[in-house]
Amino acid sequence: MTAKKGRVFSGARPTGKQHLGNYLGAIKNYVQLQDEYDCVYSIVDIHALTTLETTVNLKENTLEMALDWLAAGMDPQKSVIFIQSHVPEVTELHIYLSMVTPEGKLTDLPTFKDKVRENPNNINYGLVGYPVLMAADILLYKADTVPVGIDQAPHIEFARECVRSFNYRYNTKVLIEPQMKVTQYPKIIGIDGVNKMSKSLNNEIEISATPELTQKRVVSMVTDPNRQRRTDPGNPDVCNVYSLHKIFSTSDQVNMVNTECRRAGIGCVDCKKMLAENINQNLAGLREKRSQLAAHPNDVWDILHDGDKRARVIAEATMQEVRKAIGFAE
Ligand code: SF4
Repeated sequence: MTAKKGRVFSGARPTGKQHLGNYLGAIKNYVQLQDEYDCVYSIVDIHALTTLETTVNLKENTLEMALDWLAAGMDPQKSVIFIQSHVPEVTELHIYLSMVTPEGKLTDLPTFKDKVRENPNNINYGLVGYPVLMAADILLYKADTVPVGIDQAPHIEFARECVRSFNYRYNTKVLIEPQMKVTQYPKIIGIDGVNKMSKSLNNEIEISATPELTQKRVVSMVTDPNRQRRTDPGNPDVCNVYSLHKIFSTSDQVNMVNTECRRAGIGCVDCKKMLAENINQNLAGLREKRSQLAAHPNDVWDILHDGDKRARVIAEATMQEVRKAIGFAE
């Protein structure tokens, strides 16, 4: 086996059953990185609290997301897959990092401004400080590589600044500066044809949906708005169905849709049925594996708890160094 390139950290909030946007945008990349890097993947349930109004579904959503991750090929033999809140050292590091973080830096981050717009009535202390918690996640596991979309770049730069401030303040080299691995995440548009696929907008197609439900969701997709009748020629370039064909269909099918749509040689209903079939075919193996896993939820919790233990070994070692560097009494 060739030596791995370094350690990757990434996390995602427990949003329950994952949709095509999550799958194509993050999960597939997580799976690919496992062979090249030593990967640490976290279900970041503490982060979820910054915007959640209720936690009644938190546990269930954690399990559902883990089922999708594992079914998609995230492999506990290759990666550490764990639950953020089960390694409380992260909250300790978070508080130490907060002491070397000027408050203005946090409120200047563009993502903070977005969050304020999204949650105008719930701007809590945790929401302001969530980049510090995100930095703590990365630094606790001494990850040197973080896969991010370009919009997340300021957060990684912020984490790097945290490292420099901490190491300077305590005259140490204990924390390491992570590098960004900028990844082109495809932006998957929802079935409304306008917005990014998102559960909160109810425009998603879940990867674990039944073939029938998948077909129903695909059939309800918004297409080229100028194609009103079957006999109208369409423009696939403005149609989200075509965008998904480019991901799930063969090149012959993509070419055929591209040509036939423009001369009204194919109707939208047939075009969508073909897409639904291809999505179902593509996800059949994942869904089969997911049902097997879902039949034994305790085994899935055991996998996560084993990940917790492995994550905690790394975390505790880092925190011993951190506490010593700060100069706490032993
Ligand atoms: S035929 Fe297909 S690509 Fe063309 S507008 Fe209809 S759904 Fe979209």
